[in-house]
Amino acid sequence: MTVPSLPLNDGTTIPQLGFGVFQVPPDQTAETVATAFDVGYRHIDTAEMYGNEVGVGQAVRASGIPRDELYITSKLNNGFHRPEDARRAFDQTMSNMDLDFIDLFLIHWPLPTLYDGDYVSTWRTLTEFVADGRTKSIGVSNFQSAHLDRIIEETGVIPVVNQIEAHPHFGNESARAASLAHGVLVEAWSPIGQGATLTEPAVVAIAEKLGRTPAQVALRWHVERGDIVFPKSMHRARMEENFLIFDFVLGADDMAAINAIDRGPEGRMGPNPDEFAWIP
Ligand code: NAD
Repeated sequence: MTVPSLPLNDGTTIPQLGFGVFQVPPDQTAETVATAFDVGYRHIDTAEMYGNEVGVGQAVRASGIPRDELYITSKLNNGFHRPEDARRAFDQTMSNMDLDFIDLFLIHWPLPTLYDGDYVSTWRTLTEFVADGRTKSIGVSNFQSAHLDRIIEETGVIPVVNQIEAHPHFGNESARAASLAHGVLVEAWSPIGQGATLTEPAVVAIAEKLGRTPAQVALRWHVERGDIVFPKSMHRARMEENFLIFDFVLGADDMAAINAIDRGPEGRMGPNPDEFAWIP
């Protein structure tokens, strides 16, 4: 199975399918990521907030896979938006991972009600980490249209991705359209709605028709929208299932049937980024 590589706006590329490690316990992360590598995943999405960067770095170093075949993302935690703190936090991320470089570093949340509404200086600080070679690319997560407009207008630097909540119950069209309009690729977090979308009759019916599983159908829906996904599972069989999404296609009718179960803002499972103000 070949995972497509998508071009990013800074000239780099990213595997369209990866493996997310949110809620993977720190003491099981190295082993879980090693299993994901064995299944074929080459793109890992972690964050300082997840507490498991150390395990991701260990798995990368132990894998024997050439570093340029792997794609590793981490994110700036919410308590560290001030430039001096962001620099220290990135130093810590790099020391946790014990890698020469990572591929992508994101601002995890915009936190527009904190830090006097300043997420622009945070964004400008991330450009230093590209300049010093410790990350290849920088991007954002949970940025709404206004947040994206503002960082791009004030710094001239366009994020390569915006990682936002998206799944069949919540297509998140406004943040998605704003990202794509700027040439920013969308990464869909909780792509199967943490399992909640898998019992949807429309998804189940398409899965039965195609001889696939509901998870494969939901993930394929993202792929056909052109978005990047990194489902999480601790079970090898599910990791394998979630990996097998590039040998079938959904028809226009199937796409429309899945689009029709969008619940609008009610479908959001996570916090609204305009209001979210949590510092761990
Ligand atoms: P997900 O949609 O990937 O769902 C994961 C859960 O679904 C698993 O715990 C498991 O219970 C179930 N599952 C997985 N595969 C399955 C299968 N084939 N069949 C049945 N059930 C299955 O949710 P997630 O972990 O929240 O999101 C994926 C990744 O997105 C995270 O690991 C993380 O990397 C990222 N994320 C980012 C943010 C952010 O704010 N940037 C927030 C949440 C998640």
